[in-house]
Amino acid sequence: ADKERKKKLARLVKKKAITRDKVPVHLFANIELVEDIRLLKASGSDGVGLYRTEFLYLERHHEADEEEHLQAYRKVLKAMDGKPVVIRTLDVGGDKEFEVQSGPMALNPALGLRAIRRSLKKPQSFLRQLRAILRASADGPAQILLPMVTNLTELDQVLELLDFAKQQLRKAKLPFDENIHIGGMIEVPAAALQAKAFADRLDFLSIGTNDLIQYTLALDRIDEEVNYLYDPLHPGVLRLIEMVISTGHRAGVPVAMCGEMAGDPTYTKLLLGLGLREFSAHPSTLSEIKEVILDSDISKLKAKSRRILRMTDPEKILAAVSGL
Ligand code: PEP
Ligand code: MG
Repeated sequence: ADKERKKKLARLVKKKAITRDKVPVHLFANIELVEDIRLLKASGSDGVGLYRTEFLYLERHHEADEEEHLQAYRKVLKAMDGKPVVIRTLDVGGDKEFEVQSGPMALNPALGLRAIRRSLKKPQSFLRQLRAILRASADGPAQILLPMVTNLTELDQVLELLDFAKQQLRKAKLPFDENIHIGGMIEVPAAALQAKAFADRLDFLSIGTNDLIQYTLALDRIDEEVNYLYDPLHPGVLRLIEMVISTGHRAGVPVAMCGEMAGDPTYTKLLLGLGLREFSAHPSTLSEIKEVILDSDISKLKAKSRRILRMTDPEKILAAVSGL
């Protein structure tokens, strides 16, 4: 039976992800390791929705230089052969701490100097990464994704640095895509609540549920003592997710989800009902998600999902989601 199931899922790779009522859905792959790149081609994805670049940090003891960044990005763009590749800028710190801290250990790393905060503190290394992504964009549709943006000042600083990188490349006559898309991860509740302002300044949004859940429910994602509280179906989480999707769409900006929730078939119908049309997950899970999409009817899911959004009893919510 296991073999049959595997075969069935394999057959889905070439199928288009479209609902029963003919709504197309985009499935993208999350990649972070070299092995994932090998899985990519066989996954039938529409592109890479999240390219985590922390390995450029993890695999070596020195900081990657611009050429190393560039080679890595070009490799994935080549493998994707014209499909979009969303490259997330370095997300170190918090649960992804690789550096031996020279200063005192942050009291609460998840709330500390991580992701975009850290990049902005190290503008020279950040500039190297931005230049490399820009240069890679001459080879194919590379896009930039900013982790953990929380306020507009940060965003303005990034955009300014990006402009500076573009100027440098123009001067050096190095080609890049002038209209490269830039997106923001929505993974901090304050950013979710302010999604409109981010949508107005960005080309796309991507919901990072791993962190959004951690920060919304005030529980450390790597602390086993509080893991039992981790709940993607908490009404507070669901409302934030719905808010980001609808706000983004009203602003005319695509909204993807790239956290673990997007790769778990338990939640696929609910997310479709809440309006999500772009899922990004590990390549090995995409066929399962597609299987659920093929069995979904958006016209029916909309009303049901809205009803779930108004529910408060956790057990009833879980039952309702399982019954979709
Ligand atoms: C997330 O937070 O949901 C996410 C996709 O980013 P990461 O898991 O790399 O923090
Ligand atoms: Mg995250």
